[in-house]
Amino acid sequence: MDTIPKKQIAILGSTGSIGTQALEVIADNASLFEVYALTANNNVDLLIQQARKFTPEMVAIGNEKHYNQLKDALADLPIKVFAGNDSIAQVAEMQPIDIVLTAMVGYSGLKPTMNAIRAGKKIALANKETLVVAGELICELANESKSAILPVDSEHSAIFQCLAGEGNNPIEKLILTASGGPFRTKSMRELEHVTSAQALKHPNWEMGAKITIDSASLMNKGFEIIEAKWLFGVTPDQIEVVVHRQSIIHSMVQFADSSIKAQLGMPDMKLPIQYAFTYPDRLKTNFPRFDFNLCSQFTFEQPDLERFRNLGFAYYAMERGGNMPCILNAANEIVVAAFLKDKIGFLQMSDIIETVMAKAEFVAKPTYEDYVKTDELVRILTSELIN
Ligand code: MN
Repeated sequence: MDTIPKKQIAILGSTGSIGTQALEVIADNASLFEVYALTANNNVDLLIQQARKFTPEMVAIGNEKHYNQLKDALADLPIKVFAGNDSIAQVAEMQPIDIVLTAMVGYSGLKPTMNAIRAGKKIALANKETLVVAGELICELANESKSAILPVDSEHSAIFQCLAGEGNNPIEKLILTASGGPFRTKSMRELEHVTSAQALKHPNWEMGAKITIDSASLMNKGFEIIEAKWLFGVTPDQIEVVVHRQSIIHSMVQFADSSIKAQLGMPDMKLPIQYAFTYPDRLKTNFPRFDFNLCSQFTFEQPDLERFRNLGFAYYAMERGGNMPCILNAANEIVVAAFLKDKIGFLQMSDIIETVMAKAEFVAKPTYEDYVKTDELVRILTSELIN
């Protein structure tokens, strides 16, 4: 029997929620996958543990002050150790890597993802901000290098799974489902007083802090409509959001003949991670199965754009194009950090984002340098509005 070479995987952001779940998938399928590189921003202790368990070729830590600790802790193993954000971007393009899982948080994912695409790697894309900020640029690069971008975000994985076997059948509409988050039923007055601790209790999904706040504010869904536009080449009016509290239908595609396909399952990020690794194949798992006998109903409702204004901002940014989604993202990263530190209230996040979107300089056809500059200036502008 021929032995198939193991797929070499680089995980950028290995200590986060997606990164650790990806390592579980790899550990469960050690005959198929091998960890080539692991990178983290700050969590050096966990990175050390992971490196000792998976013995990758190389590890990189973004925050350089952890370099010595990382180097010393791995001194007895043949693992190359790097530090600094540039090294993370370089790790992504190493020749033996087959798949790069981009699981870092926010804008920091952009540069390494661009490098990996230029190097022609398969991208398992978990860092949605990359496509939000610079979708046009990323798609151009991927086109040039023939690099495939496989979605890890559960909604986009669902759509991707619905499209399997559909050839060139045109999409009429994408229907992204949203859980509605922990504040779905809260009134405007109640929303004024909700805390970051309450926002961090997501009803259905286990996720990192930043994305959990984004889910509570519906900014996550806003980012996902922009992500969907770029991944699936549809126009803004072809993307709909429906609140589906049970989070069992992960998203849907409607075709020209009126047929709608949906992908269902238990909410578990390991499935979309694994599907991105094995596409177009499916691997047997022991993940919990959904049982229709235990779930008496699926519900659907419209998202409320008056209480959750971020989703409206995202539609606006998507339609406006240019650097507007980049402005939206940078402002959001700053307000979320401030909300997590209880410096501003929940509703203030949207108020500040709205002000920044009106004030920041609009660029219709941004280059990479324009994105870098926009990100930098918007962060300053937003911080000034908070302090
Ligand atoms: Mn999602």
